[in-house]
Amino acid sequence: MSKPTVLIAGAGLAGATVATELRERGFDGRILLLGAEEHAPYIRPPLSKEYLKGDAPIEEGEVHPADWYADNAVEFLPGVEAGSFDPAAHELFVSDGGRITYDSLVLATGASARPLGVPGSGHGAVFPLRTREDSSRLRAALEVGGRRVVLAGSGWIGLEVAAAARGYGNEVTVIGHSAVPLSGAIGRELGGVFERLHHENEVVFHNAAEVVAVDGGAEQAVVLGSGERIPADVVVAGVGAVPNTRVAERSGVRLGNGVLTDKGMRTSIEDVYAVGDLADAFLPAIGRHLRSEHWANAIASGKVAAHAILGDRASYDDIPYFYSDQYDLGMEYSGYAPLAAGAQVVYRGDVDSREFIAFWVRNDRVVAGMNVNVWDVQDDIQRLIRSGERLDADRLADESVDLAAL
Ligand SMILES: Cc1cc2nc3c(=O)[nH]c(=O)nc-3n(C[C@H](O)[C@H](O)[C@H](O)COP(=O)(O)OP(=O)(O)OC[C@H]3O[C@@H](n4cnc5c(N)ncnc54)[C@H](O)[C@@H]3O)c2cc1C
Repeated sequence: MSKPTVLIAGAGLAGATVATELRERGFDGRILLLGAEEHAPYIRPPLSKEYLKGDAPIEEGEVHPADWYADNAVEFLPGVEAGSFDPAAHELFVSDGGRITYDSLVLATGASARPLGVPGSGHGAVFPLRTREDSSRLRAALEVGGRRVVLAGSGWIGLEVAAAARGYGNEVTVIGHSAVPLSGAIGRELGGVFERLHHENEVVFHNAAEVVAVDGGAEQAVVLGSGERIPADVVVAGVGAVPNTRVAERSGVRLGNGVLTDKGMRTSIEDVYAVGDLADAFLPAIGRHLRSEHWANAIASGKVAAHAILGDRASYDDIPYFYSDQYDLGMEYSGYAPLAAGAQVVYRGDVDSREFIAFWVRNDRVVAGMNVNVWDVQDDIQRLIRSGERLDADRLADESVDLAAL
């Protein structure tokens, strides 16, 4: 009998993790990894941080050295786009007109930067940020310095780019929908911590505002819903990402907020899996589906899919995790954002000096935690979330009580 073929459509971190985990677990069948980009898999966090700031070379973000693919018999096909697949024939149609037969198919097509979608957003001064090329182009525009940079979007990526742009000595304005930056992700109070940090770094905010146009004329500007014009040499579209569901949709896979999967990353179609930013995965710990656009999720879900393909008992039980770096502030967050929304926030440490842990507590149980400029506490935070034990908020807040003892 011939050995099985695992075909991975999408060569980002999640797709690469599936290939890596399969080989590490001893899978000796054929692995094909095809990707629309010309690059071998790379990670994206440095694109708004170290690389954008000029602190690290682009190669540092590569998932594996170039020869890893051949050394591990992973057939990597760059510049190849998956179109749709035929579930009955187990065939994937690709952009060059060919078709590839698979035993297991992994959809790992990730997400794309959400377009700004207003008149003038196609102007050359408007920069999306998703790929290496986007980041290089933006970096070239920022490193000139002394330019008027307007960020459309006050989420994590918008604020990271704001910090990088200030680092090059640009004037920076952030325009956000919400009343406080990041409030959708971490609530108003904690969003305010980040807003103050940026204020101190002379970033100007227009909150509860909407970009309605980009005027690319002689007086280049971003136009707000209020009619106000913000002069801009560089406009960065940091308005989120949309999952690349096209292949799945064309092939009849069930969608939710992305591609719906069970806890083993299996889609509604047999032998077809979805991972990474694309997957709206069932998380047993919270009894619901969740799509995470995070680096750690690309790894966790990729591993789960590999285990499921190998026939192991596979269940997504990692706690969602991500991090951000802005100026001299570093943070890590673990937890279940849907449960954290509206939960009580308990602080441990000094919020004003930005050295603290925030715990989101629901029914006396920790459902999420964020450490800001405090390190080596993620294991404890995740343990508290996982345990589901009732905790006394005063003890949680009390720094004299060892976190490890809670
Ligand atoms: C600027 C930036 C900064 C970020 N910072 C952080 C951070 O600090 N912390 C964090 O946790 N997360 C961060 N993220 C999110 C993190 O990078 C993503 O969660 C992660 O990249 C998801 O990996 P993925 O493999 O699922 O998708 P992707 O990285 O999007 O990779 C999918 C790949 O599939 C390809 N593809 C798409 N359609 C097709 C097709 N039809 N056929 C073939 N190939 C296709 C795409 O071109 C892409 O190469 C950041 C993202 C960006 C853009």
